[in-house]
Amino acid sequence: MAAQIIDGKAIAAEVRAEVAEEAKALADRGVTPGLATVLVGDDPASHVYVRAKRKACAEVGVRSWDHDLPASTPQEDLLELIAGLNANDEVHGILVQLPLPEHVDEDVVLDAVSPHKDADGFHPYNLGRLVTGNPVVAPATPAGIQQLLIRSNVETSGADVVIVGRSNIVGKPLANLLVQKAAGANATVTVCHTATRDLAEHTVRADILVAAVGRAHAITSPMIKPGAVVIDVGVNRTEDGLVGDVDFEAAREVAAAITPVPGGVGPMTIAMLLKNVCALARASVA
Ligand code: NAP
Repeated sequence: MAAQIIDGKAIAAEVRAEVAEEAKALADRGVTPGLATVLVGDDPASHVYVRAKRKACAEVGVRSWDHDLPASTPQEDLLELIAGLNANDEVHGILVQLPLPEHVDEDVVLDAVSPHKDADGFHPYNLGRLVTGNPVVAPATPAGIQQLLIRSNVETSGADVVIVGRSNIVGKPLANLLVQKAAGANATVTVCHTATRDLAEHTVRADILVAAVGRAHAITSPMIKPGAVVIDVGVNRTEDGLVGDVDFEAAREVAAAITPVPGGVGPMTIAMLLKNVCALARASVA
């Protein structure tokens, strides 16, 4: 039987509508949530992402400030810009689009963003709060995956979750979100990576399998337990267009539910970023 398709577009629209209501309620109290985006260089994919984020802000009533800088921008200038945004009371969230040019130390720049304005939730302070189970904001893609599971009524408590990929922006924060003793979590989590000895041995026992590998068709149908929920984070540009990390057509014959690419995790990332900006704006007046 073909799997249920988890419609990330529809769920993201639901989240965005909630964010719009929250932004309006905050604006009625005199606090219009605001996001400053910083884009350095000419990476085409980064330009697409940032444009989409700015458009989404306008649609939900979040103000945005655009800072587009040339690839040659010295690190000191970038740090100066961030210091100015940190000091600006109208800016509640700051997003520095990654990757940054090679001469810039990403960690130094991300650490310079005030943890109270960290729209992406990448600052060590916010990651620490995430690990201890008390986050104000969480990295948008993992938070979006958790919402996809919750809003699709997927039981996570006691579930075996296997995440393939241990990046700082997806795998590791997602593992920390889902392992918490909390609603929409409480799972037994395994994180796999390139040193994992037998990947399929792990993936095939997952009730919930998350692929964040960055390689087309890295997850094939024999690696999936019949009836599992499959979340495909991958975005790979191939001759056949945009595909995920999962062999979708074969996987949908085995899984109970699966996210498509595009239209699964992707739309949730922007929706959760907007939610983070509102959370930071709310915290700023609390
Ligand atoms: P990343 O930083 O490149 O990390 C990939 C991870 O996969 C690494 O931990 C790597 O292991 C592991 N891996 C690679 N090949 C493997 C293999 N054969 N077996 C087991 N593990 C393997 O990737 P990322 O930033 O997390 O992104 C992953 C994918 O998600 C990419 O396609 C990216 O474009 C996409 N993405 C989508 C969104 C969205 O909003 N839809 C957001 C973020 C990322 P090692 O650590 O050992 O190298």
